[in-house]
Amino acid sequence: VSPPNLPAGSSKIILFGMRPDHINQKSKKPTYAIVALPIPVDRLFTYAIPPELAEGVRPGVRVEVPLGRRTTSGIVIELTHQSDVGGIRPIKSVGDTHLSPALMKLTDWVASYYGCTFGEAAQSVIPPSFRQAKVKRSAGGFARLAVSGAAFTRAEEEVGRAPKQLRLLHAMKECGGAVEVRTITEEWGFSRTILNQVIKKTWISIEPVVERSHLGEIDRDVVTLNTDQELSVQQLIDATGSRTFSPFLLYGVTGSGKTEVYLRAARHVIVNGGGCIVLVPEISLLPQAIARYRKHFQNEMAVVHSRMTGPERYDAWKRMVEGECRLVLGPRSAVFSPIQNLRLIIVDEEQDDSYKQGEKPRYHARHIALMRGKFEDLTVVLGSATPSAESYEHTHKKRYTRLELPDRVEGVPMPRIDIVDMKVERVEGTSFSKTLLDRLKTCLGSGGQSILFLNKRGHARYVQCSACGWVAQCKHCDISLTFHRIGGTLRCHFCGFSQNALPACPECSASRLFFTGVGTQRIELDLQTFFPGVAVLRMDADTTSGKEGHLRILEKFASGSYSILLGTQMVTKGHHFPGVQLVGVLNAEDELNFPDFRSAERTFQQLTQVSGRAGRVGRRGEVVVQTYMPDHYVFSYLKTNDYDKFMNEELKVRKLLKYPPYSRLVSALCISKDKELLERVTEAWALTLRRTIGRENVAVLGPTPPIIERLKGSYRLQVMVKGHLTAREKRGVVERFNEITLRMKTGRAVDLRWDVDPQSFY
Ligand code: ADP
Ligand code: ZN
Ligand code: ZN
Repeated sequence: VSPPNLPAGSSKIILFGMRPDHINQKSKKPTYAIVALPIPVDRLFTYAIPPELAEGVRPGVRVEVPLGRRTTSGIVIELTHQSDVGGIRPIKSVGDTHLSPALMKLTDWVASYYGCTFGEAAQSVIPPSFRQAKVKRSAGGFARLAVSGAAFTRAEEEVGRAPKQLRLLHAMKECGGAVEVRTITEEWGFSRTILNQVIKKTWISIEPVVERSHLGEIDRDVVTLNTDQELSVQQLIDATGSRTFSPFLLYGVTGSGKTEVYLRAARHVIVNGGGCIVLVPEISLLPQAIARYRKHFQNEMAVVHSRMTGPERYDAWKRMVEGECRLVLGPRSAVFSPIQNLRLIIVDEEQDDSYKQGEKPRYHARHIALMRGKFEDLTVVLGSATPSAESYEHTHKKRYTRLELPDRVEGVPMPRIDIVDMKVERVEGTSFSKTLLDRLKTCLGSGGQSILFLNKRGHARYVQCSACGWVAQCKHCDISLTFHRIGGTLRCHFCGFSQNALPACPECSASRLFFTGVGTQRIELDLQTFFPGVAVLRMDADTTSGKEGHLRILEKFASGSYSILLGTQMVTKGHHFPGVQLVGVLNAEDELNFPDFRSAERTFQQLTQVSGRAGRVGRRGEVVVQTYMPDHYVFSYLKTNDYDKFMNEELKVRKLLKYPPYSRLVSALCISKDKELLERVTEAWALTLRRTIGRENVAVLGPTPPIIERLKGSYRLQVMVKGHLTAREKRGVVERFNEITLRMKTGRAVDLRWDVDPQSFY
C-alpha cells in the first residue's frame, strides 16, 4: 500500500511497476485516485472517485479536480482503496484524453530531467486544451489543379501581383494537384477568399470528396533515388526491422534529397503496420513542406501546429490513438504524439533552435525524441546539413550511425563563397566592401535578384576595434565581453569576470572602438546612394509586424518586382527564390562575437543556410561574406564547405573549455524588482550551491548579470551550474532556493527560472 500523499520524486516506482489492469485484479474497488497537478509543488494529491466516474478513472487519464477555490486538471497516477488523509474531495469530471503507459514513463523522465513536477511536464505532453468540442469545419470537397504545363506557367505570370494565390498554386502543384479543401484552409492556412479567387479564374476546380485512397494506389516512384539515398534508406529500413533503439545522423548538404529519404523510410514503416513522427522546425511548416508529405500519406497523416485550436488538436490526437492516422508532422510538441505502433522518429534540421521550448519545462524535442526512442525501441533519424555539435560528437563516438548525402541532387553546384576582409576593403563611411558593391552592380545589371543579410543579435553589445578587428574577450571563457552601461564595465556574462571599459585598442592603439553594428535603415540609405532607383525591400522587426508579416514580405520578393531583399535573420530561412544570384553577408561579426560558446557553430550554420539561397536553379550562385575577422576558422571551412573539418576544430575548443557536448549546463535566472534583495538572495543561494553540489567536474558560476540585466522593470542575476547533475541534485538546486527565500522571508519577491541544457543566455 502506498502512502497517501506521495512526493513526486518517487512516482517512478508506481509508474513503472504497474500495469493498467493491476487494480482491477483486487477484490476491493479502488475509491481514491492519486493525481499529479500542474503546479510547482513537489507532491501528489489524493481525490475520491465518485461511483458514477469509477468507469473512466484509470492511471494516465486527465481529470478535473478542485484545488482550493479553483478547478484544475491533472493526470491520474494510480488508484488506491484506502487513504488516511483527511478532507479528501471528489474528482469533478473525467477528461477526453489520457497518457499511454509509455508516455507516462516519458513524462516522468521529462519531469526529473528538466526539473519540474510530473503535472507540469504533462502539460506539454498532453495540454488540457486538447478536448472534444465542435470543430468548425470548412465545406468539404476535393480541390484539383486544373492547369498544367504551359497553362500553369501562364497562370503563374498572371497571378504575379497576388502572392497568396501564387503560393496556393505552387502548393497544389507540389502535392500532386489534388487535395481536400479542408487541407487548404485548415493546414495550409489559406482563406476561403483566396481559394475562391483561384477557383473563379478556373485554375482550381472543386469536386465532391472521393473515397479515401489507400497507400498501395499512390504512385511511389516520383524520383529514382541516387546511390547515397538508396544506401541511407536501406540502413533505416533494416534498423526499423530490428526493433531496437537505433539512432542515426543523416548528414546531407542542402538540396541533397534528405526529405526523399525520410519519405521512403516512413512509407516502409507504415506499409508494415508501424507509425511515424516527423518533426520540423517551426518556420518550415509552410504549405510546400506539408504538401510533400500529404502527397505520399494523404489521410494516413495528421499535421499538428501551434495555430490549431485545442479541439482541432484533439481531433488529430484521437485519430492517432485510434490508429487511423499513421504519421504525424509538426514542430517540437509533435514528439509527444500518441501514434500507435511507433517505429520511427525523424528530426529534420535537428540543429534548429526552435526545438527548444521557451517555457517550462524548457525541453529540447531532439533530446525527447532520443529518450522516447530508447524507451520504446525506435529508430530515430536526426537530419541536417549542419549538425549540432552535440549530435556530431555522438556520431563521432559511434553512438549514432552516420548516413551521408555528400552531393546536391542532379549536380547543382554549391555556391561560390568569397570572404572579404573589411579592414582592407571597406568603402569609407559605409558598411560595404568594394567587392560586394561590384558584385551587386553586376547582378543588378543582368536582372538578377540579391539578398543582403545583416547579422544582428539583439542586445549584446560587444566591443570591437574597427581598425584591426580586435574584440574584447573574457580571459577565462573565450567569449566576448558585454558592455554594461551601468558602471561602464565590460563583463563576461558567463563567469562573472569584469573589467573597466577601454579607451583604445590594446592591439593597435587605435581609438576607433565601436559597440554595436549598424541597423538595416542605415544600410538602405547607403544602397540608395550607390544604386539610385533600385527597388529595395527591407525586412526587419520594424517592417514585419504581425504574425504573417515576414511571409508577406518574402512573397513580395518572390514575385520578382524587387531587386534587393535586405534584412536580418529572417531572410535566411524558409523560402526558395529561383531568381537570386547573389547573397551578401554584411557583417558576419555579430553572431560570431555574440557572447555564447555556440557562436561559431551558429555562424557556420547560419551562413551555410543563407548561402543556400543563392543560385538554387541552373547556374552557380555567389556569396560575399564581409568580416573583420577573415582568419577565424569558421570562414576558412565555410569557404570550402567543409563542415567536418570545422566541427573537428570547434570540438577541440569545446573540449578544452569544457563546454557542451563535453559538459552539461543548467542556467538559472533570479528575477526581482528589488535589486538589493535580489543580490542578497542570489549570493546566498550560489554559496549554498557551491557547498552542496560543487565538486570535481561540477562548478557553480556567478551570480553575474545576464546579457539583459533588466527586463520589464525587474532586475536579473544569473547562476550557472556547469557539470553533470543527477536528477536528485537538480531537485536540490530548487529546494535550496526555496529554503533561502523562506529563511529570508522574501515571500514571492524573488522569482527563479531555470533552464536545463540552455540554448541561449539572456
Ligand atoms: P533536402 O531535404 O536535403 O534539402 P530535398 O529532399 O528537399 O533536399 O530535395 C531537393 C529537391 O530534389 C526536391 O525537389 C526533390 O524532389 C528533389 N530530389 C530529391 N531526390 C532526388 C533524386 N534522387 N532525383 C531527382 N530529384 C530528387
Ligand atoms: Zn585595433
Ligand atoms: Zn568568463
